[in-house]
Order: sequence, then C-alpha cells, then structure tokens
Amino acid sequence: MQVPLLDLREQLRPLRDEIVERVTEVIDSTGYILGEKINLFEKEVASYCQTRHAIGVTSGTDALLATLMALGIGPGDRVLTTPYTFIATVGCILRLGAVPVFADIDSRSFNIDPDEIERIVEESGQAEKIKLILPVHLYGQCAAMDRILEVSRRHDIPVVEDAAQAIGAAFPMLTDGKVSWMKAGSIGNAGCFSFFPSKNLGGIGDGGMVTLQDDQLAEQIRRIRVHGGEPKYYHDIIGGNFRLDPIQAAALSVKLPHLPDWHEGRRKNASLYRQLFAQAGLVDSGSVQLPVEMYAQQAELEKTLPDHHIYNQFVVRVRNRDQLRDFLRDNQIGVEIYYPIPMHKQGCVKRLMVDLPEFPEAERASSETLALPIYPELTREMQHFVVDKISEFYKQ
Ligand SMILES: *Cc1c(COP(=O)(O)O)cnc(C)c1O
Repeated sequence: MQVPLLDLREQLRPLRDEIVERVTEVIDSTGYILGEKINLFEKEVASYCQTRHAIGVTSGTDALLATLMALGIGPGDRVLTTPYTFIATVGCILRLGAVPVFADIDSRSFNIDPDEIERIVEESGQAEKIKLILPVHLYGQCAAMDRILEVSRRHDIPVVEDAAQAIGAAFPMLTDGKVSWMKAGSIGNAGCFSFFPSKNLGGIGDGGMVTLQDDQLAEQIRRIRVHGGEPKYYHDIIGGNFRLDPIQAAALSVKLPHLPDWHEGRRKNASLYRQLFAQAGLVDSGSVQLPVEMYAQQAELEKTLPDHHIYNQFVVRVRNRDQLRDFLRDNQIGVEIYYPIPMHKQGCVKRLMVDLPEFPEAERASSETLALPIYPELTREMQHFVVDKISEFYKQ
C-alpha cells in the first residue's frame, strides 16, 4: 500500500468542474488584476475569520512582509518570534533589516512559550526595543494568545499572528469568566494566511491573505499591496506588488465552503491515530508521543466543538526519528520533518547574530518530530497501515 503525505486529487475531483468554470470566467472577463473575484473572496474570508478586513496578497510570505512594512518595522527593530517555524516567518523580519529575537517553544504545543516571551520582554529590559511580537500557530493550533496579548497590552507592543497553518483554528479567550472562541487571525493586530496548496485551504498556485480589524492599518496594507501608490502613481510610501491573482481567488472561493468539512475530516483522522497508537501500545512504551490538544478541555467544558486544532499537520515525537523516517519512506509512507533545523541554526540567521542564546526545546523538537499523513481523504486502511508499520519498526 502507498500512503502519500498529501494527495490533492481526491479533494479536487468533486470540485474540478466548478473551479474550471469560475477560472474560465476570470479568463473571459479579461480583468486580470484585483477586481470582483478578489473583493468577493476577501469578504468571504473576513466573514469566516471574524474580522472587519481581509486583504488578498500574493502569498503567506508576502502577507507577513506587507504587514510588517505597514507596521513600520525597519532596520534595527527587534521582532520577538519563535525559533521553530518555517523560514518565511524569520525571512520577512530579516528582509526589512530588523532583528529576530527568539523565545523558545513550549514542549507540548511546539508553539512559542508565553513564559519565555514574558521573561525576555520584562527581565532583560528589552521592552522598548521590541517592536513586534510574531507568534506562529504551528501545525494548526493557536499559540497562547491570551498570555501573549497580556504582554502586548502591558508594553504596547503590536502582535501579528503567523496563521499560515491555522485558517479556521479557534482560541478560547477568557473574558469575565466566560470563554469566547476567537478565530486565528482575528486576535492580534493582524493575521497572515497562506493558500499554498498544502495548507488546509490551498489554491491552485500561490496566494495569501491578511486579516485585521483596524481600518487604518488595513488602508495602509492595501496601499502597500500596490506599490504604496495612493492615488495611483503618487508614492508617499514604498510598497510592492503583493496582489492576489483573481484566478486563485476564483478557485479558493469554490473551496472555502468545504473547509469546515475538511477540518472535521482531519480531526477524525487524528482521533483514529490516537486510538490506534494507544491500542498498539506505542504510547505507553514511550516510542510515540501524540500531539497535545492544548484547548480540548475548554472545548469539552463549554460543550461546544470549535475547531481548536485543525491539524494542518499531525506531528508526533518519536524515538529514533531519522531511522523511523527512512523505514516509513522505504515502505511507501509519506512522512516529513517540520522542521529539521531551527531558525537560530540557519546560516542566514546565525551569520547576523552577535551572541545567540540556546533554545533547547526547539532543538529537541527538530530532532524528535515527524509529520504523518493526515489529509481528510486518508482512508482507515491507510491509517492502520501507517500505525502497523510504526509498530513493526519498534519491534525490530
Ligand atoms: C506556509 C507558511 C508560510 C508561507 O506561506 P507561503 O504562502 O508559502 O509564502 C509562512 N509561515 C508559515 C508558518 C507557513 O507554514
């Protein structure tokens, strides 16, 4: 049996005709830049993410870059972020001449540790130098946004959510003893999304979105999206070409209504994995540590079923990771390491740093984690096969 890490063909099949029709409309309209399809899709995403604004951009990377530019992040500014993420998060900081300051991750969630954020901002007297906090909602589960907002409010530091992996994920915000579930991208000053095909909502190419509540910041990002021109050809500020392609917007509008079902499919697969790994004794033996759902308890208490983890990736911590990876690949099972080298160990970052503290949890995660196939169309048989092969590996 072959089990790919991701297979988009099953998802495409029932939607293909509609996507072709909508994309054909764009082609025939000859309106290829911004326009109606973009406006419509922006409204749909704003509504889904519970924000006033959504601004379609070229990619998740450019969503981050345009947002940081709009917030005035520039040379020498410090941006507090996680060392355990995709390079785009840190690349955008460096491209603006700003300096990443890392806070280690929480070993259970793999997200930035709020205690570390507090310690770095408050103990080292760096509060004035830190111009932005940039948490990442890794694998589809929100970072500890309540604690992050506390620090942000106390020191007046804006927060941008890198929500590229977490569209639709919800965070339980406690206000006056009551939980309200807030959507990723609606909690900080802005949220940045990616429609890279492997994300839960993937385009037929690159695409991205910035979501936010603030009118003024939204205006600024819309300007930056078109080279900073306002009115056209008058440039008070520098921007770029960060426009979402209407062909992508057309395809994504067809897909968006299915997103809640796809999330449910991923969550079901995650539950089955939990069951199968436990039954196989792999959890008790300590060979496999399952992903921790940080907000499951609140979800149960409230008797609601918000998407508190949307499983863009199902990432386990395992013994003998590299050997297991090779064994599974030899058995035609697609697995991946997200991410093998933490940011502070990347050449492009290391070179710029004067003295670099250590981030033991990020390093441990890089050497112990493995992402297993979790896409919604994965079959029960495939999941049994994956768990059987992992059992076989640890019995050798
Ligand atoms: C995918 C991703 C990005 C970049 O998105 P692109 O659309 O590929 O540019 C940024 N941050 C994180 C955490 C991602 O997973």
